[in-house]
Amino acid sequence: MSEAPMKLVVVGAAGRMGQTLIRTIAAMDGVMLHAAVERSGSPFVGKDAGEIAGLGPTGVIIGDDPLAAFLHGEGVLDFTSPAATVNFAGLAAQARIVHVVGTTGCSVEEEEKIKAAGRHARVVKSGNMSLGVNLLGVLTEQAARALPGNDWDIEILEMHHKHKVDAPSGTALLLGEAAARGRGIDLANHSVRSRDGHTGARPKGTIGFATLRGGSVIGEHSVLIAGEGEIVTLSHSAGDRSIFARGAISAALWARDKKPGFYSMLDVLGLSQ
Ligand code: NAD
Repeated sequence: MSEAPMKLVVVGAAGRMGQTLIRTIAAMDGVMLHAAVERSGSPFVGKDAGEIAGLGPTGVIIGDDPLAAFLHGEGVLDFTSPAATVNFAGLAAQARIVHVVGTTGCSVEEEEKIKAAGRHARVVKSGNMSLGVNLLGVLTEQAARALPGNDWDIEILEMHHKHKVDAPSGTALLLGEAAARGRGIDLANHSVRSRDGHTGARPKGTIGFATLRGGSVIGEHSVLIAGEGEIVTLSHSAGDRSIFARGAISAALWARDKKPGFYSMLDVLGLSQ
């Protein structure tokens, strides 16, 4: 007998990713929308989640009580804000359900709190849930290892839509971490996050970031590895938010029978080395 569909809760249900998740759950086998949650005071609370997502009525009404929504669910899909995600991490652990976190822009302290929830819960967190970007991370690590920092400079360039609130993007940082792993260095101590004015020559061995914002761009990322007389460019272009939604739902299904822990998309996709 096949397993019953996994009951998923979408938090931030009226957001760009929330709506995409609701549409993608409806299109995928093995999952169902159990509940939808928005922040208290949101004009979308009390509305049908399917109607907000452009699907027509689904009978799931958007609420503002996450714990009530989590109690009979099996997994929560969370693309909201760092403060909200820290709160959801505690509640998901309490309700013993899978927590898939796509939220970016978390501080070191917020990251620690979300990780701590992984002692009791199954948490999957990634700055990018797409297969393509996670493969790009693996390739970036290999390239950074093969092209030594004395002669090759790594720069990470990203562009997103004008509404994005954090920079560099979670994906740019994921790629920076991959490059730093390849070089055997710590990203925090080797990254140059912005440049302005008389900056002096580029310090050897650093990893630079450049951020562009505008229009409706879903996500463009390039890793440029520049040597004398040649440049290697690895890049990814997101054409549709459903790549992140499918990744997040696959992560929830993957984590369904796992032990408590803090996992990444590399674990889900079998790309961890
Ligand atoms: P958005 O602003 O369109 O949506 C966020 C939603 O969360 C809003 O509707 C907001 O009201 C809701 N929200 C905020 N606080 C809440 C709370 N306490 N309870 C319930 N709902 C709450 O943003 P978006 O473009 O959908 O992106 C959301 C996050 O996901 C960002 O951090 C973004 O960078 C990230 N993101 C990650 C990936 C990935 O693959 N990891 C992909 C795309 C976006």
